[in-house]
Amino acid sequence: MLPFLTMKSIPHILASAPVIEAKKQKLIEQCLKLKEKKIIPSLKVILVGDNPASLIYTRNKKKFCEEIGAECEIIKLPASLSEKDFISEVKKIADNKLVHGCFVQLPLPTQLSHIDVGQLIPAEKDVDGFHAQNLYELMKGASTKSFLPPCTPKGIMTLLKFYEIPISGKNIVIVGRSMIVGKPLMLLLTQRDATVTLCHSKTKNLTEITKKADIVVTAIGRANFFTKEYFSPGQIVIDVGINKDKHDKLCGDVDFENVSPMVAHITPVPGGVGPLTILTLVRNLLQASNKI
Ligand code: NAP
Repeated sequence: MLPFLTMKSIPHILASAPVIEAKKQKLIEQCLKLKEKKIIPSLKVILVGDNPASLIYTRNKKKFCEEIGAECEIIKLPASLSEKDFISEVKKIADNKLVHGCFVQLPLPTQLSHIDVGQLIPAEKDVDGFHAQNLYELMKGASTKSFLPPCTPKGIMTLLKFYEIPISGKNIVIVGRSMIVGKPLMLLLTQRDATVTLCHSKTKNLTEITKKADIVVTAIGRANFFTKEYFSPGQIVIDVGINKDKHDKLCGDVDFENVSPMVAHITPVPGGVGPLTILTLVRNLLQASNKI
């Protein structure tokens, strides 16, 4: 592993708050410019059922939209909704010319969970970045200014850029291969010339692999799973997980208390990757509003 010799000024804790503070004013100005052109950026969030975590996530997204001057409506639908009614509701919302961006808050109730929501919303309004066209642009390595990138992976790229963490030529291990985090992040990092290893539940000798990385990204959804054994001194750790520990306290996938002192830099949970996901969502909304 190469030591990061040039990173003395980077804080140990890679918090999202300074990133958001630095980017927020620009979003406010972009929103004002759109309003001068009589475009009021409008986001519709489709929320099915009353999953407590989803209620919090959607409220946070609405709050941030409103803080920068955009409109956001959370459309609550009953948990018992049929597939036919769900598809027709989403299409009705997505077809509305006054709506610039929309997304379905996941997870969906069991009877709807097989639906590929990314294909229900047209690519140009797909602020989550799940539509096949947006994923194709991501695969091609197009500039993220020319399509709507997936929010969490793009948020992680924003964090790395803000803290001036070098990516090119680095050995980056991602644990978790989901469509919303691991796979798209692998593409964004590869596009920036990192050498990426994508791990999952069937990966053998995971500790040996993570220990050798320059940067480790954890996205598996298991509270405090990554203990000290998975890391080496000098590494950078990006913890995507949002979990509840046995005391019902919010925590990441990484055992922060024990891992933090031994690595060079680490994102906290909460206050790490989560708010950057929202930042990208709102950026995507403004990008979509500009194009419609
Ligand atoms: P997911 O779809 O459930 O995928 C989990 C991935 O982790 C799978 O690829 C799985 O492997 C892998 N995995 C599970 N247990 C493992 C183990 N013991 N060792 C190695 N790999 C393992 O999860 P997700 O939607 O990507 O979310 C992951 C976490 O990130 C969750 O805590 C979620 O809440 C959080 N999240 C946070 C944000 C944010 O904004 N901060 C955004 C999205 C998600 P297999 O493929 O082999 O099953």
